[in-house]
Amino acid sequence: SNHAFAAGPSTKERSFIAIKPDGVHRGMISNIISRFEQKGYKLVGIKVIVPGMDLAKAHYAEHEGKPFFNKLTSFLTSGPVVAMVWEGKEVIKYGRTMIGATNPLASAPGTIRGDFCVDMGRNMIHGSDGPESAQREIALWFQPSEIAEYESATQSWVYE
Ligand code: UDP
Repeated sequence: SNHAFAAGPSTKERSFIAIKPDGVHRGMISNIISRFEQKGYKLVGIKVIVPGMDLAKAHYAEHEGKPFFNKLTSFLTSGPVVAMVWEGKEVIKYGRTMIGATNPLASAPGTIRGDFCVDMGRNMIHGSDGPESAQREIALWFQPSEIAEYESATQSWVYE
């Protein structure tokens, strides 16, 4: 079959990725950013923020009522979070692959959680789990003016 005119997955897909307070305190910011950067993904938004309880609860709204909800939101508000928006082909799904399973002890070595984490409540990083949550989370954490629109100089070396 002729795929010459097939658009394929968008190189403009965006995911919300956040380094949680444990990752910041443990000095993992540069390691985590490096992994996404070296993969070929493009950083279009980043800030350090100690989120308030309203933001934490809105971010994890899908978990409201679950037994771990209070400790989860308390932990997120306990310190600095590096909130990021990464862009690239299938960044949502592949970003989750790079992050690993929710339980770090079930995460493969080579993943962020597999390499650095042990407990579920200290799994260091968040990544959007689908297009709808990515859009919702980006809008929750970032103003449109805080997202940089640019073409990476490496674009044609990462994408054919
Ligand atoms: N979490 C927890 N205990 C659980 C389930 C989840 O502490 O039994 C925490 C964990 O830090 C996880 C977050 O709640 O990252 C959100 O849960 P989710 O199922 O959305 O996992 P994720 O998408 O982060 O892998």
